Amino acid sequence: MHFELEAILSFSGELNKAGEQILETINEANLDILKRGVPRGVDGGATVIDHDIDGSTLKIKIVSDRYVRAHDAVIRLKKKFSEDMGKKYKIGVRDVKIKSYTIRLNLDREPKDKIEVPYVKKLDVEGKKCTVLLEELTEEQLSKNFVDRIINRIKEKIDAQYYQGKEELWNLIWYSGRKDILWDKDPTEEMAKRGWIKQGPTKGKWFYRPQAAKILRCMEEIAYKEVLEPLEFQEVIESFMVPFDVWQDTGHMEGVPNEVYYVCEPITRDPYEWEELIDHIKISKDVPQEKLRELVTPPKFGICYAQCPLIYWSLKNQTIAEDSLPVLLYDRSVPSARYESGGRHGIERVDEFHRIEPVYIGTKEQLLELKDKLIERYTYVFEEILQLEWRIAKVAPFYMQQAGTDSEDEEEVLGTIDFEAYMPYRGGREDSKWLEFQNLSVFRKYTKAFNIKSQKEELYSGCSGIGLERWTAAFLAQKGIQPDKWPERFKEICGDLPKGLNLL
Ligand code: ATP
Ligand code: ZN
Ligand code: MG
Repeated sequence: MHFELEAILSFSGELNKAGEQILETINEANLDILKRGVPRGVDGGATVIDHDIDGSTLKIKIVSDRYVRAHDAVIRLKKKFSEDMGKKYKIGVRDVKIKSYTIRLNLDREPKDKIEVPYVKKLDVEGKKCTVLLEELTEEQLSKNFVDRIINRIKEKIDAQYYQGKEELWNLIWYSGRKDILWDKDPTEEMAKRGWIKQGPTKGKWFYRPQAAKILRCMEEIAYKEVLEPLEFQEVIESFMVPFDVWQDTGHMEGVPNEVYYVCEPITRDPYEWEELIDHIKISKDVPQEKLRELVTPPKFGICYAQCPLIYWSLKNQTIAEDSLPVLLYDRSVPSARYESGGRHGIERVDEFHRIEPVYIGTKEQLLELKDKLIERYTYVFEEILQLEWRIAKVAPFYMQQAGTDSEDEEEVLGTIDFEAYMPYRGGREDSKWLEFQNLSVFRKYTKAFNIKSQKEELYSGCSGIGLERWTAAFLAQKGIQPDKWPERFKEICGDLPKGLNLL
């Protein structure tokens, strides 16, 4: 890597008389502080190769290599100038501005397409050699590590060009074998015809009338009685609004900002301030969007996307006593919202859904054991109660397959497995897409991100998303919606469906 940086240092006083001192500081720095960190015997580090005094500003040009990057060098220089100039002339450095910053680096692979990244004025690529020109970075941005992150982002975008359009890694782990399939209808359409559900009130949402509500609650009951209770999970109740800093820690904010439903707050509760809006609503019988926008903040939270982030947040910086390990918690109080856009379908891919999410934290051994127990309990439910045709697959999003992520240790533990059901209405077993109705993960990133510790060993964590709509869709897609044809065990647990309403 090669760095070339032009910076402007603004001092608190005139520099005309301080020319000699400035030269001396630069010469000393070139020999000492700008070489710190360079391995013995290597000729490297940062060097100020040019400077120019103009009134109270000093322009400098620094070249460097990877041992002392020029943006770190300029911060070291600022400190030295303040010390040296402070003593003799009682003036210090007020501000550092980066005029231009050129970074030359070697890439692992050539980009396939044009790349744009914020703060990058120009990006030239020749084969694997890349020249990045950055402009107008502030001192604060330099010390907050913007440069490394900009470079990482460039590399990430190149990697993304290579895996675009490729399939996720998918490996079959287990298959239930063929089961009795009672029909090939789309359960959502059939329930809607019978008035068990009603679409709306907005896109990707459903109103579950008594019959459908009962089925979803039965699924919940089964998950509780057959999985969570026997494994001694404890219930928590969390907020359904998640502030952005929690999602920064989990990575959701950069991972899925395009799927989040955002929440605004009123800027004031004073009725007087809202009076005009109310007038308009009363007169026009409509909500004037522009006026409303003036009365609410930009979004500060999102609606729950998955329940686990707030469970991890609740344990942030905590040390967990040995006798509380493994931590076994679940939330079923909060619905999840996701903007699925064109992917929406029926009750199985909706913008608002109901999940139970068990979350577990423990040592690697504890979680490996728990994983097996969870799979055993789930298998009992899907085989004996719901009698589904289903399978387990190990999946890895493509980015996890890239070298250099810490997915390697995560993979070793488990990563993620998906539970998928055959959906007869979509076509044949071989050529139709099966429905992921649930997943299960074990990894290390969240205990790291939230600094959750035990007194002895390093902790891992994981979660499993039990989607009630998806359990219901899978079951009804295979077993139909005539309750007398359902498997005996399910009928026993569910009992009779409510009569519902006769709407004329
Ligand atoms: P998909 O690939 O189907 O979008 P996902 O990988 O986004 O699923 P996860 O974030 O792993 O899903 O969520 C775990 C579980 O939450 C899923 O197995 C499923 O049961 C449920 N789920 C996720 N998205 C939806 C949705 N849009 N509608 C209904 N249930 C959902
Ligand atoms: Zn989760
Ligand atoms: Mg999804």
